[in-house]
Amino acid sequence: DYALYYAKAHSRGDAVLFTEEHERRLRTQSLIEQALRHADLAREMSLVFQPIVDVRRGRTVAFEALARWTSPELGPVSPAVFVPIAERAGLITRITAVLLGQALAAARAWPDPVALSFNLSMADIASPQAAENIVAAIRASGLSPARVILEATETALIQDVAQAQAVLATLRANGIAIALDDFGTGYSSLGYVHRLPLDKLKIDRSFVSEITADPASRDIVTSIVALARNLKLDCVVEGIETAEQADLLEGLGCVLMQGYHFRRPMAFADTLPYLDAEAARAVVPVQAVA
Ligand code: C2E
Ligand code: MG
Ligand code: MG
Ligand code: MG
Repeated sequence: DYALYYAKAHSRGDAVLFTEEHERRLRTQSLIEQALRHADLAREMSLVFQPIVDVRRGRTVAFEALARWTSPELGPVSPAVFVPIAERAGLITRITAVLLGQALAAARAWPDPVALSFNLSMADIASPQAAENIVAAIRASGLSPARVILEATETALIQDVAQAQAVLATLRANGIAIALDDFGTGYSSLGYVHRLPLDKLKIDRSFVSEITADPASRDIVTSIVALARNLKLDCVVEGIETAEQADLLEGLGCVLMQGYHFRRPMAFADTLPYLDAEAARAVVPVQAVA
């Protein structure tokens, strides 16, 4: 894609600028990769937790663990930046192991049945052995596998559908739930989603941001909700930022929601007080919304 950048830039006469920008980005990436290689992962990596809420009951059913990295040299680096770099550099499975350990320890403090939803990368599910390592870590933690959801993106799963089927089947046979993350952003979702052993679809937040203004986004969400229902999968919507979006999505049949409107990701220390405050609030009677 360098050639493409160059060609586009050149045709507008600003090739030099584009080249410098490209080189700067490559340098940044290699700085990040170097820092990751030498990182003291156990100290530098941490997690924040964002609730996934059942809006009919007004109750948190799970927390999604989201990685945070503070490098001594570079400062805080977003997972959207360092995860892809770690994947390419072959460093992600070590990072996953550290984060999964932290996440499982956190989840053990939450009351049953509040679950842990944990993001996996391609390499984490690229082999039966990798899957076995994850199962072993969950077993060793003492947390019931029934309280663990593993999130994988379409791009991670579509690389090798047969392999993904086998690995996901192993995880599910051990009682772990599987969520397909960022659903709707891959290019051939519908072609294989019914062939993967899944429990949940997470609708990507790009649809949500448009939903109040754009009828097409609304139609897409409606279709995904129907698809999930037909495939007997739970449907989670991510990235809800306003009450208007939440109400509209509830009207479309969405029950499980996540986003800044409900709560931003929080430190572990805040999760228990948050659950206590939630439990102190009145529960909406189920018959009123059934
Ligand atoms: P994701 O798994 O789709 O996580 C959702 C992202 O959306 C998170 O960004 C979250 O903070 C953000 N978010 C949540 N609610 C809202 C909202 O209402 N509005 C907006 N604009 N954003 C919202 P974050 O924490 O920066 O993570 C980015 C991505 O990095 C994640 O996307 C996931 O793909 C990856 N990631 C994060 N933690 C891990 C990890 O532990 N392991 C792996 N392999 N990937 C991770
Ligand atoms: Mg996720
Ligand atoms: Mg997601
Ligand atoms: Mg996403």
